[in-house]
Amino acid sequence: MKSLAIGIDIGGTRTKIGLVNLTTGQVEAMRVAPTETEDGGRFLDEIGQAIRQLKGIAASEGVTINGVGIGVPGFVFTNGVVDSTYGFLKFMEDYPLADFIQQQHGLPCLLDNDARVVALGEALYGQGRGHNRVLVLTLGTGLGIGFVVNKKLDGRLPYGHMGGHLTITTNDTVCYCGKTGCLESLVSSGGVLLIADRLGWPSRYPELPRTAEAIFTQKQTGNPNAGAVVAEYMQYLKTGIDNYVNLYAPDLIVLGGGVAKGLRHDLDKLHNTHLLHAYKAYKTTLVLSELEEQAGILGSAALFR
Ligand SMILES: [Zn+2]
Repeated sequence: MKSLAIGIDIGGTRTKIGLVNLTTGQVEAMRVAPTETEDGGRFLDEIGQAIRQLKGIAASEGVTINGVGIGVPGFVFTNGVVDSTYGFLKFMEDYPLADFIQQQHGLPCLLDNDARVVALGEALYGQGRGHNRVLVLTLGTGLGIGFVVNKKLDGRLPYGHMGGHLTITTNDTVCYCGKTGCLESLVSSGGVLLIADRLGWPSRYPELPRTAEAIFTQKQTGNPNAGAVVAEYMQYLKTGIDNYVNLYAPDLIVLGGGVAKGLRHDLDKLHNTHLLHAYKAYKTTLVLSELEEQAGILGSAALFR
């Protein structure tokens, strides 16, 4: 018997709503809506319309949907209330989103942090299949972190995903969390630009777009200034990864998110095979995500596995 759930991935500009086959990990149908950041009513209308369409598809196959899982960019409490989105979706803060979806659509609803559901998606359906301790780092506009042990998210503490805020330097980089020298502020896309600005990139190359993607592309063409930016970026990321290995002892680390794509040719340089060498049986592997954009939908739906 087919097992279906709806997974919703609320992104910075687009919200993806997918009908997921929980057994195979296939996204059987998907709707994409612009992420409405101002009007809560409109946001709920947009995702509500997509949920109704996907329910219709499942009904036409005679299959019941297990529930609706949502990955929220922020803190989520276990009672289905969104605590904070750092002001990104203000209307959603202190809002009983899970109850609302449940009442409106007659389906159980579970929420979790977006980076944590991405990790669940990777562990169940992506590179993490066949691994027991999977740590997933999402390098995008921030640094998302999620840890999955034996196919289950590690705890459901609402603040458990704050591990991106490791202090790794003493420089004066101020993070939105209030600290200085946070890993997140240095290895997100904004971190690449911060390093680039400090190394004089914009004045050297005013004709190039000031984006992480452009800098990684230039590095591949042999541009030495881009190489210097990427080298400093990787030094921070490697320090973070070394710390995570010591903290989590993952057997697999998956790097995902837009910035990770730029690391394709340098992955081996981020990997310290000597870590935890005191433990003879310990081995960790570092890979890039292959699910990319689907990881969030799959992981949100997998809250109902
Ligand atoms: Zn921070």
